[in-house]
Amino acid sequence: MTLDIPHFAVVGNPIAHSRSPAIHHEFGLQLNIALRYETLLAPVDAFPATIESFFRDGGRGLNVTLPFKEEAFALARDHLSEQARLAAAVNTLWMNNGELYGSNTDGEGLLQDIQRLGVALQGKRVLLVGAGGAAKGVIYPLLSAQCTSLHIANRTAGRAHALRERVVRLMPRLADRLSAGGLDETDGEWDVVINATSSSVGNQTPNLPGIRYAANALAYDMFYAPRPTPFMLQARTQGATQVADGLGMLVAQAASSFHIWFGRRPDVTPVLDTLRRQLNRA
Ligand code: NAP
Repeated sequence: MTLDIPHFAVVGNPIAHSRSPAIHHEFGLQLNIALRYETLLAPVDAFPATIESFFRDGGRGLNVTLPFKEEAFALARDHLSEQARLAAAVNTLWMNNGELYGSNTDGEGLLQDIQRLGVALQGKRVLLVGAGGAAKGVIYPLLSAQCTSLHIANRTAGRAHALRERVVRLMPRLADRLSAGGLDETDGEWDVVINATSSSVGNQTPNLPGIRYAANALAYDMFYAPRPTPFMLQARTQGATQVADGLGMLVAQAASSFHIWFGRRPDVTPVLDTLRRQLNRA
């Protein structure tokens, strides 16, 4: 009986902390879809063998997290969604006719969460702080949402410039709206500031003394925690009207993966409420 239930997992290293099994379990209950969703620890040097054995044993789909998104991109290179191709990273894998497919739902998750918060990106000046994997995955979706300008600011300025150059090489028409530089040289007024750095992990904030928040500005930290993150607290002090953490993005990107696998989109709101309560109790 159990064998008939489709099997999914989130693969990473480390992985025990992942909330994805709880999220997908809630999605399944909501839509009356039976599924088994577990964590899968892959040795850092054996990601390809781990996913090959998962699918060989009948697994239906995988979410991919740190540090394997680039490796997943390479393995699914013959069947990539546009989002995955532009992000050069894959967070969702599935098999179709014996072939591996990959997509990246992080950008969609971020956009949906910003929309849930009542903020329209069209016509907005967006500051994206960070130039790691998370930043890379959201640049094209943010520009597609018709923001007026997007500036990538990173502690290591060279990484921000390299990221901009990569996007412009793939999509030259985006060049006018996309700029890049170091954190220390970033100033000006912004409607939306997104922290895509891992600074909050170490209880730190990116050093952004020169920026100003416009009226009704949103400060969004992709990191999430039971309490407001250091970046959210800093943004409030600097004048942001609205602050949010990345729990909603996490649930929304999972909903997009679920949609890829099952063709049905769960309602994010009740799952986000449950997860928030669980996080606050932890
Ligand atoms: P990553 O690839 O390791 O990149 C880390 C980035 O943070 C780099 O730009 C790094 O700058 C910067 N950084 C680290 N500490 C800093 C500090 N103290 N001050 C300023 N910059 C600092 O990590 P990632 O995969 O992009 O993840 C970044 C964050 O996004 C993590 O907190 C992760 O949890 C979160 N995330 C959330 C979701 C979600 O669904 N909510 C999804 C994906 C990621 P340098 O280049 O100068 O080192």
